[in-house]
Amino acid sequence: MNSTTIDHPLHDFIRGLPKAELHLHIEGSLEPELMFALAQRNSLKLPYASVAELRAAYDFADLQSFLDLYYAGAAVLQTEQDFYDLTIAYVQRALADKVRHAELFFDPQTHTARGIPIETVFAGLARALREARVEKNFSSRLILCFLRHLSEEDAFATLDAALSLRENYKDLWTGVGLDSGEVGNPPEKFARVFAKARELGFHVVAHAGEEGPPAYIHAALDVLKVERIDHGVRCEEDPALMQRLAQSQTPLTVCPLSNLKLCVVRDLREHNLARLLRAGLRVTINSDDPAYFGGYINANFIATADALQLSRDELVQLAANSFSASFASAEQKQHWLVELQAYQAS
Ligand SMILES: [Zn+2]
Repeated sequence: MNSTTIDHPLHDFIRGLPKAELHLHIEGSLEPELMFALAQRNSLKLPYASVAELRAAYDFADLQSFLDLYYAGAAVLQTEQDFYDLTIAYVQRALADKVRHAELFFDPQTHTARGIPIETVFAGLARALREARVEKNFSSRLILCFLRHLSEEDAFATLDAALSLRENYKDLWTGVGLDSGEVGNPPEKFARVFAKARELGFHVVAHAGEEGPPAYIHAALDVLKVERIDHGVRCEEDPALMQRLAQSQTPLTVCPLSNLKLCVVRDLREHNLARLLRAGLRVTINSDDPAYFGGYINANFIATADALQLSRDELVQLAANSFSASFASAEQKQHWLVELQAYQAS
């Protein structure tokens, strides 16, 4: 088979496919070039001599080795303008990848711990997203994530601080999530703060079953009562859990290039995304921390389609899942699904 004639139409099909992105950490979209530019603007010195040297450090053994570098990089984000620039850069890449709607994770604790006011973070992200909505018809939501390696008390303090801004950002901030180092920080640790978030009417999601065991996915569902599981790929080790997820149609926001880069899988051809999809689970494809993991959403779609021989119908299914699993309005979802159908038929 000649891959150049076989592959390119499928890649073009992916590039034009309307889609939503539901698992994207905005701090993880900080490209080395912007990191250096912001460091210079804020008179900070990075521990790397050049963009090339920084990129060379993106050779991770596991989640923790990535997180260490990720938190160090986020230190260049200081002003409202910095958060705006970061967000606009992501939006431009998402628009180029035909993303119609994105739900952005952000980690206030990464910034407040450095003395950056939470108001600064919200203001910069929101200015970019509102501008994109008006000028580019780019739909978005914000999901505030708690860092799970910190305490539940710290999460409560973060939620309380953010609540004072809720009214100003109610068009964007509609969800709460849980991220950072999974192993040793089970969902149960955050049972009370998630109960409060649900009471307040927020959508809730959590990272589970990336490096952590299937038990963490059960706990995210049963204790945190999440509406989506971020990653969730280790559900395959528990057949009863697989069945439960297929039955409940709880979405999984899977991030293939992230799993590869953080050594959750050794080779993309070993990734279980296609098996999960073919078992009837509501799987989506996302980029996670694209600046660090080697690609934005279309790069994830293309690499996965090639490695796992995904069909056009499966790619359309993945895109349809991304819309239906989103927290957008029923009306918006319907609009995108109609657009997707028309694209498939064209
Ligand atoms: Zn993530």
